Amino acid sequence: MPAGLNVAIIGAGMGGLASAAALRKAGHAVAVYEQARQFTRLGAGIQIGCNAMHVLRGLGLEDRLRAETFYPRSWNNRDWRTGEVMFDMVFGAEAEQKYGAPYLLAHRGDLHAALHSIVPDELVHRDHRLVGLDQAGDGVTLTFANGRTVTADAVVAADGVNSVARAVLFGEEEPRFTGRVAYRTVYPAERLAGFDMGDCTKWWGEDRHIVMYPVKADRSEVYFVTSQPEPGFNLESWSAMGDVKTLRAAFEGFHPDVQRVLAACPDVHKRPLVERDPLERWVEGNVALLGDACHPMTPYMAQGAAMAIEDAAILSRCLQGIERDGVAAAFARYARNRQPRTAKMQLTSRANDWGKSATDPDWVYGYNAWTTAISA
Ligand SMILES: Cc1cc2nc3c(=O)[nH]c(=O)nc-3n(C[C@H](O)[C@H](O)[C@H](O)COP(=O)(O)OP(=O)(O)OC[C@H]3O[C@@H](n4cnc5c(N)ncnc54)[C@H](O)[C@@H]3O)c2cc1C
Repeated sequence: MPAGLNVAIIGAGMGGLASAAALRKAGHAVAVYEQARQFTRLGAGIQIGCNAMHVLRGLGLEDRLRAETFYPRSWNNRDWRTGEVMFDMVFGAEAEQKYGAPYLLAHRGDLHAALHSIVPDELVHRDHRLVGLDQAGDGVTLTFANGRTVTADAVVAADGVNSVARAVLFGEEEPRFTGRVAYRTVYPAERLAGFDMGDCTKWWGEDRHIVMYPVKADRSEVYFVTSQPEPGFNLESWSAMGDVKTLRAAFEGFHPDVQRVLAACPDVHKRPLVERDPLERWVEGNVALLGDACHPMTPYMAQGAAMAIEDAAILSRCLQGIERDGVAAAFARYARNRQPRTAKMQLTSRANDWGKSATDPDWVYGYNAWTTAISA
């Protein structure tokens, strides 16, 4: 029985924490290095597709997530003005039976906390911002902004869309700004004074949309996220807080249900929407990129974190029983097996027509990263 690798993971986001948990299950020692000094509970929701739930179930999180999240009957797609149903993507028991796992709607902070709960806290080193990476010596040497240096057998860089590891390995290249911003917030449902916003609805406008859903099992908290062009938006000087009045003005003329949800919203965050084309290279020797570091996508299929979580399961399967001299080949195998699926997801998401009309979702939700065949 091999002793297990010593794996350094950069970034304690969804992908980094899922990787840490999955690699520990596969018998490896992990240390996670996160730039943030502490984790903040950003007011945001996250859809956990059945495909992500397969992985999370394997990591032991199913009961916790079912208890803490909302179980929608469908993802309904409606016309911005008339409210006409364009396509009702059915979830609930029907999808659960078909895909073998539930579709859940969560508070992003709850999913993050759940993932954090299965990685011992002493393995998560905060205030560690990666600034350098070197494979010249024995193992991979990482340098952090706090002055610390560590060496590992293998490195998983899950450091997000602006990945430093990606830049060091393959060159600086900014992600592409789509020209659009997302406003999002979570607030108590009581602010809606009894109004039922539905289970999960995407309201499709001509050049903008808004998605809304509860994030708690008892519907006590609700969430929405938009995508809209914002003339004059300046990437350099943008503020993470959005202006509620600007947001409401951007959705004037939308269906009264949308107006109601926006009127009740106390405050809102915003962020620019960025993406990349599918990358050819994810791996260099004993360093592998994972999650948004290698396949950032628009959020229009709600699959970005799901892809990072799937990556973690496949990566851990590829590293099962591997010793240091086999890491590079195992990482290359991981990348070969993940790239077609994540590239398809990036390009499908970019088109922003998921659910706009009759859509066959089987290829997305029917994938189980623990059992899918991995080619040699
Ligand atoms: C508006 C919006 C809505 C979305 N909705 C959904 C959804 O419903 N469902 C879904 O599946 N996905 C959704 N996504 C996508 C999802 O948020 C991302 O795909 C996911 O967070 C990627 O996880 P990650 O771990 O790869 O990266 P991140 O979550 O970005 O985590 C990266 C981590 O690395 C840390 N880090 C960065 N640089 C360094 C460094 N140099 N050194 C150390 N640490 C570093 C960061 O602080 C962070 O903690 C949405 C995205 C957006 C923008």
